Amino acid sequence: MKNERTGCNTELIYERDAYVTHFTSVVLDAFETTEGFIALELKESCFFPEGGGQSADEGFIDGCPVTDVQRVDGRVLHTVKIEDGKHFAPGQEVTGEVDFALRFLRMQNHIAEHLFCGIANQRFGYDNVGFHLSDVVTFDLDGPLTGEEIASIEEKCNEVIWENVPVIVHFPTPEEAAGMSFRSKLELEDGVRLVEIKGYDLCACCAPALRSTGEIGIIKVIDFMPHRGGTRITLIAGRDAYKDYRMLDEETGELMKLFSAKRNLVADAAADFSQKSLAMHAQITELKKEITALYIREVKDVIRARNDGDIIGMIYPAADEVQSRNVINECVKDYDGILCIFRGNDADGYRYVCGRREAGEYSLKELAASMKKAFGGSGGGSEIMIQGSAPAKKEIIEAFFQKEEK
Ligand SMILES: [Zn+2]
Repeated sequence: MKNERTGCNTELIYERDAYVTHFTSVVLDAFETTEGFIALELKESCFFPEGGGQSADEGFIDGCPVTDVQRVDGRVLHTVKIEDGKHFAPGQEVTGEVDFALRFLRMQNHIAEHLFCGIANQRFGYDNVGFHLSDVVTFDLDGPLTGEEIASIEEKCNEVIWENVPVIVHFPTPEEAAGMSFRSKLELEDGVRLVEIKGYDLCACCAPALRSTGEIGIIKVIDFMPHRGGTRITLIAGRDAYKDYRMLDEETGELMKLFSAKRNLVADAAADFSQKSLAMHAQITELKKEITALYIREVKDVIRARNDGDIIGMIYPAADEVQSRNVINECVKDYDGILCIFRGNDADGYRYVCGRREAGEYSLKELAASMKKAFGGSGGGSEIMIQGSAPAKKEIIEAFFQKEEK
């Protein structure tokens, strides 16, 4: 017998009572869908089929996992994974069990959305024109809202939660519904079923509903953005919001330790740290310029001591690549030989830059090859500048340049 209002063969128990989790029923139809899976149509069911932006309930029928529940042409079909050679046939009695923890979590989020949209509707006249429930609740309102307005709706929602007002499900006749004023969304597929949050909202809905707003626990908007002339809002409620709070509390605790800051002053401490590090960075840049000038002075002293066109190798452990190039570019202006600057240390190895004013008889590629032989690593470049790595000890590098000088 088809239910006149829902148009289904199945009596949908969750529509009247979302807290019934165990039920017995009779199989109306059973057929294999893919190998190992069977579609079951039951006389009555507690399973909510996917709809209105919300996923299907999960659970078991006769001990076999229910992997999906869909409405197909006015039928509610439970996809069941066959286990232990289980067999299902029309007329057979079965027992079902819905995963209530998951159901309750979704009810918290779903009724949270009703409450938020109800209050947004009361205050601004906006309608919900899109809804999706996954790890978070996302919905679209058809008008613009500022951050302050959203915060104010959110605050009111939480006050209504603490008021613990009843959530009531109504099944008005079409004639009664015609005379009623209620919010209607895309999820409206059946004859009218209304979910009322006493005093705050009345909305057409097909999903399981909580008994009172207190069960929502808490509502927190975590994101919003303008969307097609309206506002897209993302919120979390209940256990999801608690989990989010716990995660944020742990993060805050880590930051408090890192910045030695009080709980409510972590952002100030981070801003202060960021400002100090920018100042420090500017100072380091200045110091590097000063140190580069000292390197240049020292290298020029070495050049003056023996301007014989040989290869000069210098090790400046803390220098960087830019400094090395600057020293070479400055010093080869009045030196006919090759100048190599090494940076790094024995533990991590060294990197080098070698340069000269113009191409000479002894090519830099030749030098790169002999350094590769002496130090390992790799290197290459142009006729006037090469760079590479030297995973060798300091004394090996120093000995190499003493030998080259001869
Ligand atoms: Zn709803």
